[in-house]
Amino acid sequence: MSTFTQEMLDSMKLVEATRAERLHKELPRFSAEEKDQLLKEFHPDYSAKGFTVLSTGPNKGSKVPNELAVLLEGKSRLEGVQVDLERIYYDVDVLVIEWLSHLGVLFDKEADGTMVTTHGGGTSRKRMHACKDVTGAEIMRVLRDEVQNLGIPVLDYAPAIELIKDADGKAAGAVLLDLDSNELLVVRAKTVILATGGAGRLHYQGFPTSNHYGATADGLVLAYRAGARLIYADAIQYHPTGVAFPAQIYGALVTEKVRSVGAQLVNSKGVAFMNPLETRDVAAHPRMHGPRQRRQGPGRCRPVARHAHDRYAARRRDH
Ligand SMILES: Cc1cc2nc3c(=O)[nH]c(=O)nc-3n(C[C@H](O)[C@H](O)[C@H](O)COP(=O)(O)OP(=O)(O)OC[C@H]3O[C@@H](n4cnc5c(N)ncnc54)[C@H](O)[C@@H]3O)c2cc1C
Repeated sequence: MSTFTQEMLDSMKLVEATRAERLHKELPRFSAEEKDQLLKEFHPDYSAKGFTVLSTGPNKGSKVPNELAVLLEGKSRLEGVQVDLERIYYDVDVLVIEWLSHLGVLFDKEADGTMVTTHGGGTSRKRMHACKDVTGAEIMRVLRDEVQNLGIPVLDYAPAIELIKDADGKAAGAVLLDLDSNELLVVRAKTVILATGGAGRLHYQGFPTSNHYGATADGLVLAYRAGARLIYADAIQYHPTGVAFPAQIYGALVTEKVRSVGAQLVNSKGVAFMNPLETRDVAAHPRMHGPRQRRQGPGRCRPVARHAHDRYAARRRDH
């Protein structure tokens, strides 16, 4: 017995019925003015109630998402704690990563050895690279090896909770919290690079995320507390495509690559309502598609197309 609901089965039939016609049609991309209008009307970054004007720090007077404002205006994890900055746990330089391919990342290549490139949303030139469907894992495999080969110490389960500044006000290290022992570790560094990822796990305006659980804007907060001015803190990227069914993987991200190799954005009646290679901001919010959808026929939007999935699978077999 199928686990799809009757509504889904009906919709699949409609999507299949329009497939042959859709295959040979390309919808035009939005003009800059059309995009502006859609974003202002529907994109969460433009919703006034999702934002707070900061009352303190280098960005005082600018708006940031409410969830981030709570952290940027919050107290230090080290409030009231004495840290012995003379007891240095690690003394380090800095790692500079070379060209990943040179290090050994197995990017997809053509038969003649040139890189396979594909379009991404909004790109005018093909400039996306991939390692089959395991790009992130492949990059991490090589980086991990390189870090180990160079003998660089890695501290797991020990997030940085505050930056340390020298007498000139320059970043000179960080205080880490060892989550196993609850001990505070002082690391002195000649150079500090913050690469703590995004803010998806703060769930701005209640949006779901497929980001890892460490994506809590730590770098923004650490830098802000140390006096850095943030740029673009009032914007976040919403990814347009995710899994709706089955429930076990609801919300999991469907990579943009499926759109770059031909997946179309169709509503539940099988009507393609926008060019699949629109930028993520425009493609992201289903409510944005309202006006155009109403022109093209009713139904909720559904960013899937099975033929493209088949083509994607075929391509994967090729490389
Ligand atoms: C499901 C999914 C699919 C994606 N697919 C693609 C794709 O196909 N192609 C593509 O180009 N991009 C893709 N992306 C986006 C891409 O993964 C991110 O843009 C990229 O990983 C960001 O790298 P980063 O190093 O800035 O941050 P992250 O990869 O998030 O790394 C940040 C690291 O910092 C650590 N950290 C956080 N806070 C602290 C702290 N206080 N102290 C110490 N360490 C800390 C975290 O544990 C983490 O290890 C995808 C993202 C998702 C979620």
